Amino acid sequence: MNAPVQHPPSVRTTCPYCGVGCGLLAKPNGFGGAAISGDPDHPSNFGRLCSKGAALGETLGLERRLLRPMLRDADGLLAPASWERAIARVASGFAETLARHGPDSIAFYLSGQLLTEDYYVANKLMKGFLGSANVDTNSRLCMASSVAGHRRAFGSDTVPGCYEDLDQADLIVLVGSNAAWCHPVLYQRMIGNRQRRGAKLVVIDPRRTATGEEADLFLPIAPGADAALFSGLLVHLADTGAFDPGYIERHTSGLTKALVRARDIAPDIAATAAATGLDAAHVQAFFDLFRTTTRAVTCYSQGVNQSARGTDKVNAIVNCHLATGRIGKAGVGPFSLTGQPNAMGGREVGGLANQLAAHMDFSPQDIDRVARFWGASNVARKEGMKAVRLFDAIEQGQIKALWVMATNPAVSLPRANGVRRALGKLDLFVVSENVLDNDTVNAGAHVLLPAAAWGEKDGTVTNSERRISRQRRFLPLPGEVRPDWQIVTDVAHQLGFRDAFPYRCAADIFREHAALSAFENGGTRDFDLGALAAIGDDEFDGLAPLQWPVRSNERSTPRLFGNGGYFTDDGKARFIAVEKPAPKSVETSQFPLRLNTGRLRDQWHTMTRTGLSARLASHQPEPFVEVHPGDAADAGLIDGGFARVSTAHGACTLKVVASAGQQRGSLFAPIHWSDATASSARIGDLITPNCDPYSGQPDAKATPAAIAPVSYRYRGFVLGIEAADLPPGVWWSRVTLSRGAGLLLATNVEPDVWRGRVTPVLANADIAEYLDAAGGVYRAAAFREGRLHACLFIGPDSAPPRWDEIVDLFAADALDPAQRQAVLTGRSAVDRPPPGAQVCACFGVGRAAIEAAIAGGARSTEKIGEILRAGTNCGSCLPEIKMMLPAQSYRHTL
Ligand code: SF4
Repeated sequence: MNAPVQHPPSVRTTCPYCGVGCGLLAKPNGFGGAAISGDPDHPSNFGRLCSKGAALGETLGLERRLLRPMLRDADGLLAPASWERAIARVASGFAETLARHGPDSIAFYLSGQLLTEDYYVANKLMKGFLGSANVDTNSRLCMASSVAGHRRAFGSDTVPGCYEDLDQADLIVLVGSNAAWCHPVLYQRMIGNRQRRGAKLVVIDPRRTATGEEADLFLPIAPGADAALFSGLLVHLADTGAFDPGYIERHTSGLTKALVRARDIAPDIAATAAATGLDAAHVQAFFDLFRTTTRAVTCYSQGVNQSARGTDKVNAIVNCHLATGRIGKAGVGPFSLTGQPNAMGGREVGGLANQLAAHMDFSPQDIDRVARFWGASNVARKEGMKAVRLFDAIEQGQIKALWVMATNPAVSLPRANGVRRALGKLDLFVVSENVLDNDTVNAGAHVLLPAAAWGEKDGTVTNSERRISRQRRFLPLPGEVRPDWQIVTDVAHQLGFRDAFPYRCAADIFREHAALSAFENGGTRDFDLGALAAIGDDEFDGLAPLQWPVRSNERSTPRLFGNGGYFTDDGKARFIAVEKPAPKSVETSQFPLRLNTGRLRDQWHTMTRTGLSARLASHQPEPFVEVHPGDAADAGLIDGGFARVSTAHGACTLKVVASAGQQRGSLFAPIHWSDATASSARIGDLITPNCDPYSGQPDAKATPAAIAPVSYRYRGFVLGIEAADLPPGVWWSRVTLSRGAGLLLATNVEPDVWRGRVTPVLANADIAEYLDAAGGVYRAAAFREGRLHACLFIGPDSAPPRWDEIVDLFAADALDPAQRQAVLTGRSAVDRPPPGAQVCACFGVGRAAIEAAIAGGARSTEKIGEILRAGTNCGSCLPEIKMMLPAQSYRHTL
């Protein structure tokens, strides 16, 4: 009798993408992969996943992984090296720079993708033992304005509420948030509330997004006018007797000044409408709804945070909740939706340059307290440089040694080309990474350190609702890869700080982190994990999700501030008098438009992980710019054609999508592409480094820009091989296939020129070619062992070849003669129409199939789900399906 097959058990872990923090079950297959499903017991998602989370199992391959340390040699080439040499190079480089140039000359740039334990050790080394506070993080680009707003109002960086409030609210206001795409599981929870309890949804956004599709009231606000809208709301609440005098009296201060300023900005409905570009009736409807709905939650995200006035926007929102006492109780509150999986964990340990550690800052008392706890005599005594300033200092030669961990600043920071150039000036440039190849690695890193990726990491993350969850390892560490905390610990040991960094495992670090949070706390600081300071290894391993603070004898805290207890000197929250908006326009005659940037539904950051999934790649495979049809016509742009988008900082060439969802004068471009994935789509190059004065967060939503048409006579694609010897000037975008990858092309290079270019790349294969020079057509296909190995198609712009028509043939194991023939005709030999752009990533349903179902009489998402299954799993695509249905319009039901 055969022995029963042993299946590895499922491991409970947490999604590595957005700040919703969904719990997952990962079931390893024993061959380096795993099946991923939602954890039904996790209180943030109850088993639900979005398209990105559901595709995580497709991103676990090692093909593009950095598996060994690499050092750049005297010839400028990267070569494998031992860990000993790599650690020694990093330690000696930082020590020498510190000795020669002082603490302002060294910096770490961290990431909201790191685990809390990684963050803690890096922050401790730099701020406690190297004496510099130049530790900042890509979270600066994400939610720093929320942090600054919280600290101004509450005296602490505290999110007062929890996700259950979104189940219990009667009104959910989303400001500057495309939650349908960026926080999909949470968004579906909001929609569930509406279906179950009739909650109203108000969406405030300059751009009509998928989120606006579900809104009961959509307010297409003028860019940057959120503070004016909420100032008007504060005035309206005051004038209609909607304040909560008892809460204001007992738990707040500063209302008079804030209200005077609000009246100055937006004294009535008409003035609010004028300041925000909104219809006065819609302003009235929103104000009435907010006034009459006690259970109201206001969620805000990057549209609020990524602004030169982001902190004021946050405080204008918080003011309205304080004035009505709608905070810290069931179904109410201001709610910052965090972008990254562990932005909040980074904030907990002090991962921002203006924090010291454990929600302490650089007051003499905090410096002394942290120094005693760490046993450190060299604690940084002043704030460090925030991200944009930090990279300016690199460019100016002030910072000479930099360690980047788990992020890609050469793509994501404003003025990214300048950042990339600056990196080349460093005396020591260290990168801890998962991947062999990205724009930051390619910017001249001297040392590459192979770091553990999701699935190999062990520790904790904290989501938007202060919920700490375990990320657990379910895959072995490949090659010579090490966890980030261990790499930093190794460097600390090399620097002579072995006693202060005695960690064997993530649990050791977590205990110390928890103990520091409770050290001399006594209820004076919000962040307190005292109940976990002595947690055992086994208990840490099994730690169930919980919300901080967890002081001694507490297990979880869903809400704070319902009865005051703010972390200010007098225990009262502060109303903030927000600044009156500057009247001048940012646009100029050279750059008459405003460039807004953001995320797509199925991609994450710079696509180093999500870009590995063919399913996710098919949703929006090419970098694009959305333009209002009127602006497109004025600029001579063609929907589906190309445009050059330029700002004072750079230019990109992108596909044109004419969209009525854009306001006149506004452009929108997604941030995900880099030089590794497209020829000309590094949106960070275009963004202004203009920052909020309080948070230092750059304004990624309103860069003055211009747009002009670009024409290509031919379109095409190369599939199965990457980076064929492309002629100069070809526009390309990388696309992932279920087998291999390819490039989507646009070009002015004549078809016959391609012939000589491609055949060497297809060597050792059975090649079939077709050339019609007069018709502008060239096709080549290479077959190996009966399979389609690679192909290159070029066709006229007026009748471009479609890669989605033959991609099925790529997946086939063996092609019969008819199918081989079909390849060169450009038609799929699979018996179904081409799917078009993918809408439902879970079931691989394309736009064409949904359009066909609608043409066949389907009139609801439910019916389409019945026919095609589209939208019946994670629900992320439901807003897009609704937009395709006839007679579906914004409802404005109020
Ligand atoms: Fe991950 Fe999606 Fe959940 Fe965000 S909503 S944590 S991306 S599964």
